[in-house]
Amino acid sequence: MITPPCVHICFPILDLMPLGVVVFDSSYTILLWNKCLEQWTGLSGDAMRGENLLARFPALDDRKYRSRLDPLFQGGPPAIFSYHLHHHLIPAHLPDGACRRQHCIASSLRLEPNSPPLAVLTMQDMTEVHHRIAEIAALREQALSELALRKQVEASLLESQEQLRMLATTDDLTGVANRRKIMSVLKAELGRAKRHGAPVSLIAVDADYFKRINDTHGHDVGDEALRHLAEVLRRQVREVDLVGRLGGEEFAVVLPETGLEEACHVAERLRQAVARSPLVHGGHVISMTMSAGVVASNPHAGDDPQTLMKRADNALYHAKHAGRNRVECSP
Ligand code: GH3
Ligand code: MG
Ligand code: MG
Repeated sequence: MITPPCVHICFPILDLMPLGVVVFDSSYTILLWNKCLEQWTGLSGDAMRGENLLARFPALDDRKYRSRLDPLFQGGPPAIFSYHLHHHLIPAHLPDGACRRQHCIASSLRLEPNSPPLAVLTMQDMTEVHHRIAEIAALREQALSELALRKQVEASLLESQEQLRMLATTDDLTGVANRRKIMSVLKAELGRAKRHGAPVSLIAVDADYFKRINDTHGHDVGDEALRHLAEVLRRQVREVDLVGRLGGEEFAVVLPETGLEEACHVAERLRQAVARSPLVHGGHVISMTMSAGVVASNPHAGDDPQTLMKRADNALYHAKHAGRNRVECSP
């Protein structure tokens, strides 16, 4: 086995490199096996020189490698074997038993102008890079799943906030707004009315002789009658109007941008609708009527919600006294 002189010259340089280098001829006879490869494989350069590369590493004697290595001996282009795809070309075990990941480049090497081309295969150890990339991918995965989890938590938080808000503003029995909601909407609408000069009206509603329904049919049917009443009221008003339950058998309707006259018409419509919509329950037809007190704000007087409610209650009181099933409009 004759080693070309240049290989001897190159040898010390190749030993300095942190790269595995093997030089072989067209018969795949190894001419050079550098120090780095010695360290990686535990195989000495002296022992490897003269050995057949394919015989020592039969995995290389595969079409996918040969089809790219063989052309090098005709001066063909370099062949790159990425560590992603090929992991390694020359198995070099780490203490943990895994093989070093290698980024390999095989190039044609002509030592003398007329000498036959040789092949030089360099291997860069990418194990660390591979681990780092895997770690980064795992971190990214973790970050993404934490982000998804956070979004999920945020969504359920928003949902429970919405539920809490609903609970805080909704009447349990009837599902319409509760007193707190009515008062806050009334306050907001009074503020708006003051700014824009349009009045807001309020209808106070009280079921007539409601106690009788409880006494005759029981409290559960009374509850059903309250739900029914709320639904009848709700169906009669605009989207922008607010129906709410003040408590007991008392309800209120807030009518934004509505004057007293129009509000009285609405109250009358409500009264008629309730009177002609009895609750049908368990074979019983339970008639109901309501009385209403109607007031409108004076946009220039700076009404507050409590005062407006008190005035509506007074009007309602008059409707009751005048015989019930009536609407009383308070100028
Ligand atoms: P009026 O025409 O003077 O308003 O007579 P009324 O019977 O409707 O008024 P009263 O204030 O005497 O009685 C109201 C009744 O409403 C008594 C109470 O038990 C009943 N009530 C209040 N809240 C509820 C409720 O949540 N469910 C049921 N079923 N009844 C209720
Ligand atoms: Mg009452
Ligand atoms: Mg009543």
